[in-house]
Amino acid sequence: MFHAARLKMTAWYVLIVMILSILFSLGMYVLLRREVERFSQGQRLRITRALQDQGQFMPYTTMQPVRFNFQVVDPVLEEETIERIQFVLIGVNIGILILSSGLCYLLAGSTLAPIQEMVEEQRRFISDASHEFKTPLTSMRTTLEVELRNNKLNLVEAKQLMQDNLQEVVELQTLNEALLKLDAYQKHKNGRHFELVKLDAAAKAAIKKITPLAKQKKITIQAQFVPATVMGNLAQLTELSVILLDNAVKYSPEHSSITVATTEQRHHAQLQIIDNGVGIPTAQLPHIFDRFYRVDASRTKNQVSGYGLGLAVARQIAELHDGKLSVKSEVGRGTTFTLSLGKREG
Ligand code: ADP
Repeated sequence: MFHAARLKMTAWYVLIVMILSILFSLGMYVLLRREVERFSQGQRLRITRALQDQGQFMPYTTMQPVRFNFQVVDPVLEEETIERIQFVLIGVNIGILILSSGLCYLLAGSTLAPIQEMVEEQRRFISDASHEFKTPLTSMRTTLEVELRNNKLNLVEAKQLMQDNLQEVVELQTLNEALLKLDAYQKHKNGRHFELVKLDAAAKAAIKKITPLAKQKKITIQAQFVPATVMGNLAQLTELSVILLDNAVKYSPEHSSITVATTEQRHHAQLQIIDNGVGIPTAQLPHIFDRFYRVDASRTKNQVSGYGLGLAVARQIAELHDGKLSVKSEVGRGTTFTLSLGKREG
């Protein structure tokens, strides 16, 4: 599809270039032809005058101007010059046609490249998302069909079945919300409305939200805040902090501690979330921000719920703020996520 579009686009570009080139060449041809004729006439006139002037020293019997019966400019030479101009202009146009075809093909390719990338990205996204929905939906359907045929199903079993299905539905809803968020932040890229916000306020709000979860695992959260003002969206920065803090809790053992710190440097404000959890293998680090990526599918799926979308959303929020979200980790020792944002005085 893209190859055909590229060829079509190249043809249009070349057509436009050739129309301009041919029009320019026609103009040049008319102009040069006139110049050659003007030159011939001028030359003829000058030689005629020169011969007439010489004639003043000759004995004339009449005052009539002298007529010459020979051509002072060779018409064959004139015709040859015009033909040569035609030849050069045709050659130039053929050259432009060949050169512009190559250049336009490259140009069309680079124009279409981002669109092609976007379409492929969307295709991947749809396929990944459908895959994530498919597995729980299929399992729910199978269970429901089997149990509906089961005549011995009693009320307690039916309630348990409904409970299990409800859990699946809640998880699917979470997945759906994460997908909608990804889409929304993608759209926000072109129309963001930012104001001066305190990064530490976003981190505080996140801690408040995650504390009940941390308490369940007896994890302590230590806050080390230096007031830092950035240009951004408080709700989005809070959401990013919640995602990082939620992960820190999810992937940390019981009774461990997590540090949330905001710092201010000359041109940057930073938010750091440091845990002493399971850590991430170095080889996996480049992929953890990809959609639907989980370091260890069995570990995340069976012990910790998640679809591998949290960090993708977090990265999008960081990008929306022209910031950088980076990670450092050591297996068995812990992980540090750092968000760096351009600082604004508030
Ligand atoms: P999930 O919903 O699976 O947690 P995320 O996108 O939030 O998805 O994270 C992607 C993967 O990165 C997770 O599956 C997990 O393996 C790894 N990860 C993220 N944060 C941490 C952390 N603080 N410690 C260890 N592993 C982490």
